Amino acid sequence: MPTAYRGRFAPSPTGPLHFGSLLSAVASYLDARQQQGTWLIRLEDVDGTRCSLDFQKAILDTLYSYQLFSDEAVIIQSERHDLYQHYLEQLIKQDQAYPCQCTRASLKATQGLHPKRCQCDLHADHSWRAQCDQGIFAFVDPIQGPQYFDISQPLNHPVLKRKDGYFSYQLAVVVDDHLQNISHIVRGADLLDTTGQQLWLYQQLNWQAPELCHLPLIINEHGDKISKQNHAKAIPNGDLTVLKRVLHYLGFSHIPTDLSIPRLLEWASQHWSRKQLRQASLSLDENDQDLI
Ligand code: GLU
Repeated sequence: MPTAYRGRFAPSPTGPLHFGSLLSAVASYLDARQQQGTWLIRLEDVDGTRCSLDFQKAILDTLYSYQLFSDEAVIIQSERHDLYQHYLEQLIKQDQAYPCQCTRASLKATQGLHPKRCQCDLHADHSWRAQCDQGIFAFVDPIQGPQYFDISQPLNHPVLKRKDGYFSYQLAVVVDDHLQNISHIVRGADLLDTTGQQLWLYQQLNWQAPELCHLPLIINEHGDKISKQNHAKAIPNGDLTVLKRVLHYLGFSHIPTDLSIPRLLEWASQHWSRKQLRQASLSLDENDQDLI
C-alpha cells in the first residue's frame, strides 16, 4: 500500500525567516498539498545556545502570515530530549556511537576531522559521536538527480550529542522525521552534505528513509547563498509581492496577479511540478536584491 504523503518544514529558530527559507517552506507545502498530503511545521531548536523563543515566535508569525499552517501541532525539539537520548542509547548499545573529548583545537592537526574512534573518560565531559565509517548510499533526488554518498571516505564522525548536553541536528532530524512518519522531505540543497550521514542513521536504527528532494539554492551577486550567516534579512509578513517572487524562483510563470495569498497558494499547489526546477543555483534578479 502506498504510504500517505507527509511532508514538513523544519526551521531552526536561530534567526527570522529569510527569503531562502520561505522558498523551502512554500515548496514543501506545495509538494504536500499537490499530493493531498499532510504538511507539518517542526521547530528545530536543539541548539539551545543559538535558538531563541523570539525567533521561534517570529518564524511562526511569518509562516502564518503567508497562510502556511501546520496540519498537526507544531513539534518543538527542545521538548523531546528524552526521545533523542533513547535513540542515542540504542546506538551506544549497538556500538555505533562512542564518547569523545576532542576539542576543536585538538582536532586542528587533522583539519578538524575526527575520522577515528577515540577512547575517553566517561566521567569527564564528553560528546557522543557516530561511528559512521562504512556504507554507500544512493538515491535519485527528483531535482538534483542521482546522489551517491560513500561515507567510508575520510569524513567526520558527526556529533550526536554535544559536550554541553545538547543533541545535534543530525540525530534529532532523523528521529523526528521517523517518529512523525515523514514520507517526503523537500529542503534546500545546502543540506545535501548532511544527507549521507542521515541515511546511515536510518540504516542503523532500522528505519526507512523518506524520499528526499533538494531545492536549488538562491545565490546573491557574489555567488553566496542566502543564509543567516550571510546576514539575510527578515522577510516582511504577509506580503503578496514576496510570495509571487518565491513562486517565480520556484519556476512558476504566468503567476496570476489578482489572487489573495490563500488563493495564490491554492493555484500554485495545483500547478506545482518539481520538474519546473533545475539543479543549478538560482541567481537573484537584480531587482530582488532588496529581498535579502
Ligand atoms: N533545521 C534545519 C535548518 O533550518 C533544516 C532541517 C531539514 O530540513 O532537514 O537548516
